[in-house]
Amino acid sequence: MPIDATKPYNPDNIFARILRGEIPCKTVYEDEWALAFHDIAPQAPVHVLVIPKGAYVAWDDFSANASAEEIAGFVRAVGHVAREQGLVKPGYRLLANLGADGGQEVPHLHVHLFGGKPLGPMLTR
Ligand code: 5GP
Repeated sequence: MPIDATKPYNPDNIFARILRGEIPCKTVYEDEWALAFHDIAPQAPVHVLVIPKGAYVAWDDFSANASAEEIAGFVRAVGHVAREQGLVKPGYRLLANLGADGGQEVPHLHVHLFGGKPLGPMLTR
């Protein structure tokens, strides 16, 4: 069920629990600012999620409230993962579902990295 991105952060969301180590994930990268892991239901040969470590529901509160270091760290982590996964040369898709109309289901900001095959003009669900 898509979320309301204007609601306060819920520390019991699934990605918060992954960050706390309460639920396992297949980590592909981690640093001070971000965690990247394989999506549990991949929609492309490469489907990695990158999340900031801070408690942000979506782009709105992240862009308004995160520090410059958090924003830079998250953006750099996304780029690092794309390079590390070999996505830069063939190309890839970076996507964030945000809020109800955006189809966001997990209320912790995340971006999807899709790649490993030609993706066409858009992904469908
Ligand atoms: P959204 O629709 O919010 O942009 O995407 C949420 C994504 O999180 C989905 O692609 C879904 O497969 C993935 N996901 C949901 N629960 C888990 C989980 O427990 N572990 C992992 N690795 N991915 C999850």
